[in-house]
Amino acid sequence: MAAAAKARASSMRRPAAIAVLVLGGGALWWAGGSGSHVTAGKVSLEASIVAGQKRTGANDPRLAGAHRFEDGGWIYVHLEGDPASIGFQHGYLLAPDIEDAFQAVSAGMMHESQRDWAFFRKAAHEMLWPKIDEEYQQELAGIVEGLRARTGSKLDVDDIVAMNAFEELPDYYVPWLNKQEKVAHAPDLKSPGNCSAFVATGTWTKDGKIVMAHNNWTSYANGERWRIVFDIVPKNGHTILMDGFPGVIASDDDFGINSDGLMVTETTITQFEGWDPAGKAEFVRARKALQYAGSIDEYTKIMLDGNNGGYANDWLLGDSKTGEIAQLELGLKAYKLWRTKDGAFAGSNWARDPEVIKADAPQFEPGNLETSPNARRLRWEELLKENKGKIEVNIAEKMLGDHVDSYHQKPETNERTLCGHVDSSPRGVEVWGWAPYFPGGAVQAKATDSSMTKEMKLVARVGHPCGENFLAKPFLAAHPEYAWQEPYLRDMKAGPWTEFHSGETAAPEKHQ
Ligand SMILES: [Zn+2]
Repeated sequence: MAAAAKARASSMRRPAAIAVLVLGGGALWWAGGSGSHVTAGKVSLEASIVAGQKRTGANDPRLAGAHRFEDGGWIYVHLEGDPASIGFQHGYLLAPDIEDAFQAVSAGMMHESQRDWAFFRKAAHEMLWPKIDEEYQQELAGIVEGLRARTGSKLDVDDIVAMNAFEELPDYYVPWLNKQEKVAHAPDLKSPGNCSAFVATGTWTKDGKIVMAHNNWTSYANGERWRIVFDIVPKNGHTILMDGFPGVIASDDDFGINSDGLMVTETTITQFEGWDPAGKAEFVRARKALQYAGSIDEYTKIMLDGNNGGYANDWLLGDSKTGEIAQLELGLKAYKLWRTKDGAFAGSNWARDPEVIKADAPQFEPGNLETSPNARRLRWEELLKENKGKIEVNIAEKMLGDHVDSYHQKPETNERTLCGHVDSSPRGVEVWGWAPYFPGGAVQAKATDSSMTKEMKLVARVGHPCGENFLAKPFLAAHPEYAWQEPYLRDMKAGPWTEFHSGETAAPEKHQ
């Protein structure tokens, strides 16, 4: 670790410790609410955690080579080694952020699904855990060890696994289960509509190589916390540079590149329905694919292996070695792969293959241009055509902050713009179950191209990609119907577009 990074890390330690104290009460409450679910399989894990706590601290050998710094509103963590060490480093370096994110995420999951936390712990323990590859089981257990070593956290592996599945359990598993069990008065849960993205290549881009860009749409409560840059050098597989969420092993929104030149992003499939309880969690497959795939075919194979239907996405892929891009529309009953060396694929939460729509998103109406997914689809088509032959990263940054409502045919900030501001929409987004003025929309953005991928670089911006700030207090005063979010909803201020690369040790003096 460079001296400057070291100084930075130690100066950060004190405020972090204070934050943990403040959060401690809340974390205890959650643990109390979850009840005791210690099983035989977990005993050895508990024992190793206790052993871990005895030898912990900043000098723990498992922290060797790992570091954290902050830049542009992002928290960058470098993790390296075997799966258990990567997990330990993740848990240790991001401990206060994980405690904080856990509270926001679990509150959202329970509120929306009307299920208690014990329900999600059980689903994580009985349904998801047995199918998680051993290396990721070790990494998830490592997160808990690192977390406890740093903060004495009461969170356990079931909590962390449930949190890792925060995109798939409440919006995919629960509606499927409610239907199976014919639950009376079940909440009308809908799969989420996360993100605007594109990937382009050939005659569409300025240098003929690939350009990929993505903004993350989610609730502001979660999205304001989605500000980690993970630089992971695993013992096996490729080095990964991706954005991510504290405590979660996949990018999950998703945007990442690997050292074999693969570029990966996605947007979800609106009104997707379905779940396979025998399948493998999406967050595991997505992480595994980014770590091990070096081609579009390998990526597709890993995502299909054990597909559980969770967090069903249109994956936008690029292979910077060949210049080829692809769109993998991954339903549960059907899927479709398109690929080209000269073209552009855009995503804004619509499925386009008739078979996938029929089998997996039967309620989706591709012709309803008033809805957010379809309105943004039209805007992507316009913007990409307008910029054909000129597309590069700085143009991609502007596109991600675009405010044209294709349905009203004028500039606005609402649920139909590529840079989403649903908090200013009297309509909300009915197809995702977002009520009027729901505090959600585009929460951060990333972009990269083939040359940057070769150097393991990306650019990223926290907050709305257009640069506007969201302020929690006036919003809550104007919309008391969202008062339940008050403990978790914070200001979301936009940061500068900031460049990150793999192996970075400290924030360069690039913004002073
Ligand atoms: Zn905006």
